[in-house]
Order: sequence, then C-alpha cells, then structure tokens
Amino acid sequence: MSRPRIVIVGGGFAGYRTASTLSRLSKGKADIVLLNPTDYFLYLPLLPQVAAGILEPRRVTISLSGLRHVRLVLGEADGIDLEGRTVRYTGPEGETGSLRYDRLVLAAGSVNKLLPIPGVAEHAHGFRGLPEALYLRDHVTRQVELAAASDDPEACRARCTFVVVGAGYTGTEVAAQGKMFTDELVRQHPLREGLEPRWLLLDIADRVLPELDEKLSRTADRVLRERGVEVRMGTSVKEATREGVLLTDGEFVGTNTVVWCVGVRPDPLAESLGLPMERGRLLVEPSLQVPGHPEVFAAGDAAAVPDLEHPGKYHPMTAQHAWRQGKVAAHNVAASLGGGTRRPYRHKDMGFVVDLGGVKAAANPLGVHLSGLAAGAVTRGYHLAAMPGNRVRVAADWLLDAVLPRQGVQLGLVRSGSVPLDTASPEVARVVGGPEKPRPEDGTRDRREPAGAPAKPGPAAIPGDTTPAGAGPGAPGAGDKPGPVKVTDPAPDPSRQPDTGKDA
Ligand SMILES: Cc1cc2nc3c(=O)[nH]c(=O)nc-3n(C[C@H](O)[C@H](O)[C@H](O)COP(=O)(O)OP(=O)(O)OC[C@H]3O[C@@H](n4cnc5c(N)ncnc54)[C@H](O)[C@@H]3O)c2cc1C
Repeated sequence: MSRPRIVIVGGGFAGYRTASTLSRLSKGKADIVLLNPTDYFLYLPLLPQVAAGILEPRRVTISLSGLRHVRLVLGEADGIDLEGRTVRYTGPEGETGSLRYDRLVLAAGSVNKLLPIPGVAEHAHGFRGLPEALYLRDHVTRQVELAAASDDPEACRARCTFVVVGAGYTGTEVAAQGKMFTDELVRQHPLREGLEPRWLLLDIADRVLPELDEKLSRTADRVLRERGVEVRMGTSVKEATREGVLLTDGEFVGTNTVVWCVGVRPDPLAESLGLPMERGRLLVEPSLQVPGHPEVFAAGDAAAVPDLEHPGKYHPMTAQHAWRQGKVAAHNVAASLGGGTRRPYRHKDMGFVVDLGGVKAAANPLGVHLSGLAAGAVTRGYHLAAMPGNRVRVAADWLLDAVLPRQGVQLGLVRSGSVPLDTASPEVARVVGGPEKPRPEDGTRDRREPAGAPAKPGPAAIPGDTTPAGAGPGAPGAGDKPGPVKVTDPAPDPSRQPDTGKDA
C-alpha cells in the first residue's frame, strides 16, 4: 500500500511544528510535504530587531530543509480543490504544479490588515515579513543620512520623523527599537542644531498594547515616553500623502516614513475555500478539523480555534497558540490515519513578553508582572528557548550589539516598490521585471500584486499543471512534481536606481 500523503501549506509557527512533530510520529511511514514560498521558517517576534540593525536577517530564519522525512516544495498555494483533494501552487520562478493529498494542514498565517484610509496603501509599509524589515532598516538609515547632508530644515525634519500606526506588540516594538536605532545613527551622522529623530506611535485605542494586560501597557508606555517616543493614543491617520500624514486630530505631520502595524488579517487562501469563516479565519473544530472535511486541518492565524476555557470565544492570533496548535494538528492527523487518539486543542496563555530595546522589556510570565532588567532577561531568555534553532547566532548578535556600535549602512537591496502594503505575500519581495507568475484560472489577482495593480490577461489553464491528463487526483503517483522552471532575464537591480530621497 502506498504511503498516505500529508500536505502542509505554510511553514511558519503552526506549519513548522506540524511538520516536525509528524516527522517524529510517522518515522517515514507517511509522505510529508511542506509547501512554503521560502526555504525557512521565520521567527517573527524578533523581526523588529532586524529592522533596528541588532540582528542580521538570517538569524531569524530556520531552514526548513533540516526537517527529517519532510519534503520541502517551494511555492505558494493559489488554489485548493477540496473535492479533488489537490493543492495548486506557483513556485518561486513562476513554475506551477499541484499536490495531491490524503490529509491537508492549512497553516498559511496572516497578512497586513488594510483600512480604507486614503493614501495609506500607496504611502505606508507593513511589517509582516523579512523583506519589509530589511526595507525599513535601509530606509530609516537612508533618511538619517540624507537628513544629515541636507541644507533644507523642513526636508530634514520630515526625513527624521517616523510615524508608526498601531500600538499592538508589533508597532510598540518597532517604535521602541526604531527610536534607539535612529538615536544611534544620529550619533554617527549628526543632524543640524535643534533637530533630533522624532517617532510617533499612534493608535485609536486608549492605551498601548490594548490587547494585553494593563500592567504591560503601563510599563511599555513609560519606557516609550522616557525614550522620547510621542505616544498618541486615541489618534490615527486620516489621510496619507507623499509629504506626510494628516492625523485624525487635524495635525499634519511631515514625514517620509509610515509604518503600518494596525494588525493582520488571515491569509486570503483560507477565504478562497468558501467554507464557514469567523472574522476571516477558517472555522475549525477543537480537533482543528474543518467541519464537513475531516481530512482537512487548519492551525495558527488562519484558523478560528474555539477557546474551550471561554465558550463562545476563539484563541487569539499569537505565535504561542500557533506553535501549540501545530503539535495538536500533527497528533490528530496521525490519529486520523490510525496512529494514536484524537485530542482537542486546549491551552491557557502562559503570559507575554514585549521587547522594548536595550535592556528594557515588559513581561508577565505565568501572570507575574516584570519590568526593567528582569523583564529584559526573561524576554531574551524566552526567545532563545522558543526558537527551534540559530540560538547561538542570535545570542552572539545580542552580545556584539551590547559592546559595539550598530552598523549604520544601507545595502539598498529591498526598495519601496518591492514591499507594497497590500499584498497577500509579505514573505516575498516583489522583483521589478522578475519572473511572471501565471494568473490563477479564476482570474483573481496574483498573490504578489497590490490590489490596485492593473489586471493582466491570464492563461485559460495553468500551463505547468503537473497532474497528468486522465489521472484523477488521488490516483497513485498523480502529479506532484514541480513544473518546468522558466529561466528569465535577470531583474534590473533596483538598488542602482537613483535615490530621489523618497523611495519610488
Ligand atoms: C512583527 C511581528 C511580531 C510578532 N511578535 C509576536 C510575539 O512577540 N508573540 C506572539 O505570540 N506573537 C507574535 N506575533 C504573531 C505571531 O508571529 C503569529 O501569530 C504567528 O506567526 C502565527 O503563526 P502561523 O503559523 O499561523 O503563521 P506564520 O508564522 O506567519 O506562518 C505562515 C507561513 O505560511 C506561508 N504562506 C503564506 N501563504 C502561503 C501560501 N499561499 N502557500 C504556502 N505557504 C504560504 C508563509 O510564508 C509562512 O511561512 C508577531 C507577529 C509579527 C508580524
């Protein structure tokens, strides 16, 4: 009998844990396929430290190739045929393919949440993937360098003003780390007299970290203000333009930098299935199975998992839950194939840690509130323990950052146009002139294109569909090989474009 095939879509917190647990449970008796656009699992909680120049980008990536008994397929799922039990995907060079499955685990995570505010999609950048963090690190460095060389006080002020919208843990950490980073850059590139970097943190909520315990909010608020960040709660952006942002309180702030951290929404892939949803997330049973499709499981940000401790509620989108759900999904997939018994997902929050830069943090491990040095130590210790790899490298970068000045150079590899705010693929930078991705059959837009992108005519059928004609999905050996690789001309190097000051 052929080995059952388990396809996992997404190699983040939930998908990585599902794959690693299944690899241990199955001992090679199942064909485990992990479909992910990148060859790494991204440890998102440390992304603000990449943007602030503390960690080198590879430190927060864990190779997916190291998982035993797991076959990595590089690509993004763009369609799922539930009846035919097939996942359709596009690879990194535009090639297409399909994967038959006996069990499917959907763990495609989330993307930046957009609000219908004029100018935001065009002038703001999100913070959900490595390309955006690299873009921000370079962009901020460039703004300070250009400001230091500028004779125009107004232009200089705008370049050194940074607006972060959304005071959840992402926005709070980006503002906290960002201010420290620009203070350091200014020591290397002094600004004209009377000017210093200005960071604003906005949120319509009445406190920072509105979704977390109030004590954590108070600590974070105090640290941010002491550092010089303008914490403007009850305020958001009414309009964004090339020159700056109009705030809801009527003030216009000249700036070249708007970081959009208003939250995330589940990856649109879940929505495309046409199954019952809960606020954009795929509704699942406590066993993480999709009702009516016991062969399909979902976990992490993409899934609305009932909170058994609080009937009627669903678990929040956090790494903690995604990681633990991945383990339960693996056990239940194994149980559905005759290995062990099915279990419900049940988990109480273990507390939260928020890194505020330097030795500062806010943390409440197991409900014990900590601030200052103790919170800083717990926060870093927690991340080291939680990372499935790269611990020594991360610890080494922290050590180097403690004793050496930060490297204030911009490599210019990721430019503004490569990281549009409105994208379903924040994990992959768009490459101008890069390989074309065939349009999905239904004519929906490319996952890498911003919403406003003009529609291109799409092929009637996906040319590289690897399911052989006549072989139905599920037939032994039915197509699962990656499609042909199309070699295209190298993309023009965007970093060679002249810098007009504001990213094109
Ligand atoms: C900057 C930042 C900081 C955060 N800090 C914290 C924190 O301190 N603590 C905390 O608990 N939570 C934190 N979170 C939230 C946490 O990271 C998420 O809740 C968690 O990553 C969700 O796990 P997931 O597996 O569902 O999704 P992800 O970890 O995002 O993984 C999704 C994976 O699916 C892949 N994928 C997406 N679409 C497709 C597709 N179509 N086909 C194939 N693969 C696809 C992606 O490339 C990715 O590898 C943070 C989030 C961000 C953005």
